[in-house]
Amino acid sequence: MSSRNKGRDRRPKPLEVVKYGHPALRSKGRRIEKIDDSIRTLAEEMIVTMYEEDGCGLAAHQVGRSIQLAVIDVMPAQEDRPSRAWMNGRELELESLMPLVMINPEVHPVGKERSREIEGCLSMPGLHDEVERPARVRIVCQDIDGSTLDFEAEGLLSRAAQHEVDHLHGILFIDHLTPGELTEHQPLLRKFQAQTIGF
Ligand SMILES: [Zn+2]
Repeated sequence: MSSRNKGRDRRPKPLEVVKYGHPALRSKGRRIEKIDDSIRTLAEEMIVTMYEEDGCGLAAHQVGRSIQLAVIDVMPAQEDRPSRAWMNGRELELESLMPLVMINPEVHPVGKERSREIEGCLSMPGLHDEVERPARVRIVCQDIDGSTLDFEAEGLLSRAAQHEVDHLHGILFIDHLTPGELTEHQPLLRKFQAQTIGF
């Protein structure tokens, strides 16, 4: 059967992920006041892009849009880098939260425990290093329906939420490295910058 008669193809298409050096990555994202069709479509396209690129999170800035929107899915990594989440003191079925669309998100550390683990970023492919962050965070955001989500997370979900919320404020994970650690990544960073000249 031909697909020609099925009308317009509405399947979300993957978007281009901008690389280190693109000005969008250093901008502070505008707050989303109204969740309309354009936001819903963008969120769907970002989820498809995240899967296509094998990432566990993606911020709107990484597809050139400076707004408070990010997506996360930690399920594919659940065996290697597990996550846990709680709402109102009760542990959540992680699958019911994923893929997670975070609109106007905030993250707040819970407790004093910190964890140090490897991070990478789809805007800096091939660059990885350890970053120390709060182990457990409270995440408050709106979901794609505009409902408020307020939950606590540990593991990769906590780390990914902190990484993505950083993006929405123009902060990259390499900003958490020491100058010495950053030096060894300079050749790769210069390569990304050379590729984005012209923006
Ligand atoms: Zn990133």
